[in-house]
Amino acid sequence: MQRINSKNLFEKAKQIIPGGVNSPVRAFRAVGGNPVFMKSAKGAFLTDVDNNQYIDLIGSWGPMILGHAYPIIEEAILKAVVDSTSFGTPSSREVEMAELIISMMPSVEKVRMVNSGTEACMAAIRAARGFTGRNKIIKFEGCYHGHADSFLIAAGSGMATFGEPDSLGVTQGVANDTLTVPYNNIEKLLEIIELNRNQIACLIIEPVVGNMGCVIPKNGYLQQLRDICTKENIILIFDEVMTGFRLSKGGAQSLFGILPDMCTMGKIIGGGLPVGAYGGKKEIMDCISPVGKVYQAGTLSGNPVAMAAGLAMLGFLNKNPQVYSQLDKITNKIASGIQKGAENIGLDVSLNQIGSMYSVFFTKKEVVDFDTAKTSNLDYFSQYFNAMLDSGIYLAPSQYESLFVSASITDNLAEEIIEKSNKAMKSIKI
Ligand SMILES: *Cc1c(COP(=O)(O)O)cnc(C)c1O
Repeated sequence: MQRINSKNLFEKAKQIIPGGVNSPVRAFRAVGGNPVFMKSAKGAFLTDVDNNQYIDLIGSWGPMILGHAYPIIEEAILKAVVDSTSFGTPSSREVEMAELIISMMPSVEKVRMVNSGTEACMAAIRAARGFTGRNKIIKFEGCYHGHADSFLIAAGSGMATFGEPDSLGVTQGVANDTLTVPYNNIEKLLEIIELNRNQIACLIIEPVVGNMGCVIPKNGYLQQLRDICTKENIILIFDEVMTGFRLSKGGAQSLFGILPDMCTMGKIIGGGLPVGAYGGKKEIMDCISPVGKVYQAGTLSGNPVAMAAGLAMLGFLNKNPQVYSQLDKITNKIASGIQKGAENIGLDVSLNQIGSMYSVFFTKKEVVDFDTAKTSNLDYFSQYFNAMLDSGIYLAPSQYESLFVSASITDNLAEEIIEKSNKAMKSIKI
């Protein structure tokens, strides 16, 4: 597969954009080679600047659950643009959006719109601190909640990919207020709480993790977190930026039947435009300015075009919950096909799948937390990634990411993915 235009663009980009990319995981540092520059996308397919086509398994890192350029979303955007691209005043779509989110996400009684998942998580912990008057937060190793200072401590994805435990530029003072514990481990959590009693404002977690690869909570784990937080007066925040509107129309909280006190949303919520949101119990949300004393604002928050895209997306998912059972079925088919292919050639893989999320880890260990995720053979992963790319399947260029199957992936495409995965695995040099 020739990728000359991509290569030339990357050479140019590197001179004028740090690393040639506007978000680090887009660079192919973890897998070798040059990133692919895309020019268009439709349905299940991406087309690059050299006119190569790829079946897309990252869906813009989450948002494109229906596939690319979905007609009702395109139409909603085009229609909204004509009215205004930004008012800077309240507008009716913001009210519609809030109503829709509240009707879909069980824990949300009031909601504030922002422009990214990072902003949502940053604002949510500020609100939790303002509400409780406490400073410390608990996060989990390998979970990612955006790039705000407080979260760049034991964060997954990009951080794990580059083997940096931490980021420069985050002060020790900030780091001291972030306590980290392993995912799926109640004992370590209880120890940390015991040592910091009455100082912890909130616990923030990806209820199903996507940012160390796909990792699923053990049976009863989320309920245990709920019980502990209730007992200790700690605000439980589910970061549903990835899982919201993906694992079910009401996110992981609906799927597992656990009500957090707050949740953060992003990705799917904007239908491919930059949108985030945070919401939760009325009494917590009413701490936010202008009602309360926790400040948070945004020039483009609730942007009319972004709201139109989000409303079209969420409206569709709300009315068509059968999308989720279809996605689960087809993703399960892909995951079990891939697993079988690996077994047939005696390659150790550990496969995690839930709904439309899955990850293939090159390890025989069951992957339940960041430590077990890190047992994956990264050399095998990069060989697999590159073989898949050259056969026209676009995977996330890092082991520590979940893949996302979109509703545009048909049965035939699923079979093509399995077949190409089997070939790619056979080509791995041990
Ligand atoms: C992507 C992601 C974020 C950050 O969202 P951005 O829109 O990239 O700022 C936060 N939390 C989780 C769980 C995510 O997957």
